[in-house]
Amino acid sequence: MASFARKIKRKRFVADRKQFMKHFKKSMKKFKAQVKCSSCGRPPNQGENIDEWHIDQESDNINLVCPECIQLKNSGLEVEDV
Ligand SMILES: [Zn+2]
Repeated sequence: MASFARKIKRKRFVADRKQFMKHFKKSMKKFKAQVKCSSCGRPPNQGENIDEWHIDQESDNINLVCPECIQLKNSGLEVEDV
């Protein structure tokens, strides 16, 4: 009997874990989707060092700007909306 109860408990634990991982992966995906240039809208390339991106902070919002757009900004050119 005891082992049966343990089995149920374990099953529930695994289910919880699965649920958690599902949620976790979803949140990570969402977070990654938010990482994109606020100027041209492109996400970082795979393996691109996001440290080179410029961080613009406006009140609660943190906007990331890719190096290309910073260059464009610095050269005084308007960035086209995508
Ligand atoms: Zn950009």
